[in-house]
Amino acid sequence: MTMQRTGAAAGMPPMVDCAEAERRLQGFVDRELTPVEVAEVQMHLDSCANCRGRFRFEEHFRRIVRRRDETETAPAGLRERIRRLLGY
Ligand SMILES: [Zn+2]
Repeated sequence: MTMQRTGAAAGMPPMVDCAEAERRLQGFVDRELTPVEVAEVQMHLDSCANCRGRFRFEEHFRRIVRRRDETETAPAGLRERIRRLLGY
């Protein structure tokens, strides 16, 4: 797994690295990022399988919880159970 570092080349758009992708994760799944921020995150996900897995898990998790929230609050530990289930 290679860490994506901020692009140093002049003229390059600022690259989102793993730490920045992580910071934007919640906003991404909540659709709260600007289109530019989303595009930057997408660009990182295209080149980083590690973050791609994390984001996919988070979106999957949100869908499950949202569905459960219609009738009950997600119990503590649910997140961990799903994470293990999905192998993350
Ligand atoms: Zn990454």
